[in-house]
Amino acid sequence: MATTLLTEELLYEEKPLHVPSLQEVKGIIHNALAQNFQNVSVEVGDCPDLKDPFYGLAESGLGGSPLLLEIGGPPYLLPLVQRSKVYNVKEVVQKALPGEGKILAIGAGAGPYPLRNSNCEGIFNMGIDEQGNLHNGSYTAKVHGAAEECVLERIPDTDSRCALLLNLFISRGAPGPVVKVKCSKRIGELNFIECIRKGLESNYGEKCVGMGGIFVLKKGAAHQHVMRDFSKTPLHTEKQLNEWLKFYNMPAQLNAVGTLVTHEHDLDLRLTHFHSFSTSNWGGHYHYDTTPDEAAYEAYLNLAERVVRVDRPLVTHKVGRD
Ligand code: ZN
Repeated sequence: MATTLLTEELLYEEKPLHVPSLQEVKGIIHNALAQNFQNVSVEVGDCPDLKDPFYGLAESGLGGSPLLLEIGGPPYLLPLVQRSKVYNVKEVVQKALPGEGKILAIGAGAGPYPLRNSNCEGIFNMGIDEQGNLHNGSYTAKVHGAAEECVLERIPDTDSRCALLLNLFISRGAPGPVVKVKCSKRIGELNFIECIRKGLESNYGEKCVGMGGIFVLKKGAAHQHVMRDFSKTPLHTEKQLNEWLKFYNMPAQLNAVGTLVTHEHDLDLRLTHFHSFSTSNWGGHYHYDTTPDEAAYEAYLNLAERVVRVDRPLVTHKVGRD
């Protein structure tokens, strides 16, 4: 049985991010998406109540001291798993955003494999109330049985762990202004998130800008992966990795949570990472939609003020970053 790493013994690094106005970012995101989708609307306005079942988040908004947090990374999964890399997400999040108030932490990572006795995807949606109690709306997705079905399961309030790697957008979960995106009918090659990220990257250059939040694929389907149980043979290349991952064409509605950042910021940051859940058995790591004519997205994103990097792999590689 794996023991959870002691939060106070993990390496913490922190850097500020460039924080432009939401209005400025709105224009950049609109221009980027308009080259990739036929119908695009981007506004700055109050976030809808993300606790509404349509969105299914653990808190209402994305406001209040927003930050990105990345734990670990693919080097702890590849070429072979480091099973000691199990973290207490609640403790790490509370250390990254100390002080009074609620917390919403949403994003993409590896699920707590000891809970499932199997490697799994983690779709993180954690609310922490003023008393420090965890309200866990998180899920795991795993590959199950000989038929290799995708199985999506809720993580109980009593389990605040992740394994190996995690990208979170953290805030006080407060209502307030966000960038609101609607777009449909994809006419370009970029996936929804990479299109936004590349638009920001080409505008801000050396300045590092980070965002996070939720997007909903409302129509169509998406190419998504779920990690199989840990490989017993080392995975050294993207080809070996992609043969080990199980890919599915998952139908909408998919609610995806995660982060994007314009560059690695000398912290070996993952540039985009979104995992989705659904009200059916589907959940996993978003790559792209497979139905350009039908695809319709709705997203709520906020800018992060800083990034906290926890237990950064000191020996790193670039395999498994898509
Ligand atoms: Zn992932």
